[in-house]
Amino acid sequence: MEATEQTADVLVIGAGMAGLTAAAELQGAGRRVLVLDKGRGLGGRLASRRIGGATFDHGAQFITSHHPRFTALLEQGRRSGAVQEWSRGFAGRADDPIHWCGQPAMSAVAKHLALGLDYQLETAVVALQRVGDRWRAETTTGRAFTAGAVVLTPPVPQSLALLDAGGFVLAPDLRTRLAGIEYERCLAVLAVTQGPSRVPPPGGLALTQGPITWIADNQLKGISSEPSVTILATPDFSREHWENDQQESARLLLAAAAEWLDANVTTFQVHGWRYSKPKRVYGERCVLVCQSPALVLAGDAFSGPRVEEAALSGWAAATAILEAAS
Ligand SMILES: Cc1cc2nc3c(=O)[nH]c(=O)nc-3n(C[C@H](O)[C@H](O)[C@H](O)COP(=O)(O)OP(=O)(O)OC[C@H]3O[C@@H](n4cnc5c(N)ncnc54)[C@H](O)[C@@H]3O)c2cc1C
Repeated sequence: MEATEQTADVLVIGAGMAGLTAAAELQGAGRRVLVLDKGRGLGGRLASRRIGGATFDHGAQFITSHHPRFTALLEQGRRSGAVQEWSRGFAGRADDPIHWCGQPAMSAVAKHLALGLDYQLETAVVALQRVGDRWRAETTTGRAFTAGAVVLTPPVPQSLALLDAGGFVLAPDLRTRLAGIEYERCLAVLAVTQGPSRVPPPGGLALTQGPITWIADNQLKGISSEPSVTILATPDFSREHWENDQQESARLLLAAAAEWLDANVTTFQVHGWRYSKPKRVYGERCVLVCQSPALVLAGDAFSGPRVEEAALSGWAAATAILEAAS
């Protein structure tokens, strides 16, 4: 064994909602679990950022729940102070479901889920290779991790690339089905403003025309002490402007948002989500790619483009790993 090689019972690649729920479940079942993520922070698309005194959620904007198990997880997050109720929807209907958000911001949800888990950030896996009855994950810095089972939760094209790099050949039908999963892109503009926006309470607005699909006032939302807005571009705008200068695209989006911005923008940043939401989902909560050593693919591409569905996929992946071993 190389000096740099670390071992675990189960490696979970990706510390987004799917990876963290899978990891917690597997650890609860007595497995020695290690989570690896290439990002600097936990959460994947549950993402928050600060610019000076302003706070932004620039990935998932809110969390809704239909499944009792996920609702219980959110309630537990509320009791711990990591999750708060944002609103009952944005159309002002009393029967809308609760729209939750993180406290102090969305990434807090991931931090809460990761409590007690063993994880390593800034650890980008470049290849996943089957070596006898184990999996071996190699990182960009040449480190290696081996485990008897793996849960892969990056967006599907990235997961397939890791398997290709490791020389693992999937069954042709499965490969074709997975390769057909495409994602929408999303350009997100994070703008600090001199004063409040015109976005009405509770601070979120879904738009149906023009290049913008969503504007959130992060101060009204209760996550930012200073005025700031998150602007999400439509999939069409994001795709058409993906290769263009991001600052220029952001200026176009800010101009389109002018009627909702009552004050000057003092500074802004742009984040491009190449894999924002799957256009079409696989249709099963996860897929067991290899029985032994167990390999499961999971994430929102399997059950639906929502935080809740990513969690349900993670739990299903954990069950698949435990059943594969029994
Ligand atoms: C702009 C935007 C707005 C959204 N709004 C909402 C919303 O309002 N409500 C809602 O329910 N959902 C929303 N979504 C969707 C929701 O965020 C996702 O469905 C969910 O967070 C996906 O979780 P996941 O664990 O499947 O994937 P991710 O969160 O993408 O996690 C995958 C993780 O894998 C890591 N990774 C990838 N490759 C590697 C590698 N090679 N090595 C190591 N780690 C790797 C990534 O860094 C990432 O952390 C939104 C998404 C976006 C982008």
